Amino acid sequence: MTTTAPFSSNENEPSSSSVSFIQSQKGKPMLELNNCIFKLNKTTTSTKYWICTFDECLVKAHTNTNDKLIKMIGEHCHLQESEKIDIRAFREKVKQRVIDETTPIPRIYDEECAKTTLSTAAIAVLPSEREINSAFNKARRAVTPTTQLFDIPDPFSSTLRNDNFIVLDKMITRRQRIILFGTVEQLKMLFSSDVVLMDGTFSSCPVMFDQVYTLHSIKFEQCNLSIFFSFTYTYI
Ligand SMILES: [Zn+2]
Repeated sequence: MTTTAPFSSNENEPSSSSVSFIQSQKGKPMLELNNCIFKLNKTTTSTKYWICTFDECLVKAHTNTNDKLIKMIGEHCHLQESEKIDIRAFREKVKQRVIDETTPIPRIYDEECAKTTLSTAAIAVLPSEREINSAFNKARRAVTPTTQLFDIPDPFSSTLRNDNFIVLDKMITRRQRIILFGTVEQLKMLFSSDVVLMDGTFSSCPVMFDQVYTLHSIKFEQCNLSIFFSFTYTYI
């Protein structure tokens, strides 16, 4: 728990305050001032008006168009929120990697946790990956293709051993694309198997495709995913 005492500022001392900006979970700019977070209330041609995000706190801050603090009004009725700010920065870093990379989200979260220098107080209130993964999933979905016409990125077209992972990628008609994922090794396993299991799903399929279909072979009495494909088709 933080031991910092409540503090006050008045409009005569804006230069003593350090101003920086962070993003809200919805990507909106937020002002960070003396370890408190402000949200944007109003913008005019010359001034941005910010209010403290803490419930019932009435502190306001004004910045100019160059993002310099020009006025601060009122006294905070609460402690500083440095843990909240650290956690926001952590979330922002994870979210940016979720957007930029194809690394699984839980792995990004774990890697950033290992790298982070959060205070003990911030770690104590850091949400788990499970608690915040819907926001990260949403961010990743926003950068996935919305139509079936896209180039398959490299991380999805080869395995970690650098083997080719695309068996077939073909437009069957002008609006019907089929993509088969699998390796040569998996195909050999499939073709030599006495038992083949297969199933499809519509509900877990990416929106631009109609169905994901999987073929499984049995080897050493274990079921191995041999090949799966996504395809679009029209109902007759
Ligand atoms: Zn406040």
